[in-house]
Amino acid sequence: MTTKREKEDPFSTNPVRLGDRRVLLLNASEEPLGLIPWQRAASLFVSGKAAKPYNYDHHYEIATTRGDTFRLPAAVMLVEYVRVPQRKAHVTKANVLRRDRYVCQYCGTNVSKSSGTIDHILPQSRGGKNTWTNLTTSCYKCNCKKGNRTPKEAGMKLASEPKAPEIDVVRLRAVDHQENAIWDRWFALEKEYA
Ligand SMILES: [Zn+2]
Repeated sequence: MTTKREKEDPFSTNPVRLGDRRVLLLNASEEPLGLIPWQRAASLFVSGKAAKPYNYDHHYEIATTRGDTFRLPAAVMLVEYVRVPQRKAHVTKANVLRRDRYVCQYCGTNVSKSSGTIDHILPQSRGGKNTWTNLTTSCYKCNCKKGNRTPKEAGMKLASEPKAPEIDVVRLRAVDHQENAIWDRWFALEKEYA
């Protein structure tokens, strides 16, 4: 969104109630595309490029510069379908832990955000890269035990073959802790796929 457009936008001057609230953007097929700032969602909604999803009532109330209030749906659906390439989530420690559901892939122990470690399946010192397929969740004990070896060399077996997750699975799982009720409809769908 350009600065000029923001100036024309009657909602942009009253961020008091909404702050940095985000709106779930859906494709015309209702497939979640990601979270966008509410200002951008309002712009899409007002220009008619996005609409309220069918039978959906969650909304944010926005005070306009005209002195009235406007209801912005907490999820907006694009009117025209956009083709999106399969996007992969960023490779970060947090996302690897989420993908593996906070379970050590070597021994099955539950780990937390702080106790969990990320293991390079092919060790970094031997050319192992920071990629989805070379990183796995490990407890501290297993990571130490494995050391500078491959799982085969260490006689350890991975519970699952590491893959790149779809971006929405990671994002919506993260959203669940905060805004579950608002986007439950689409989140529940994602859970089935996950
Ligand atoms: Zn372990």
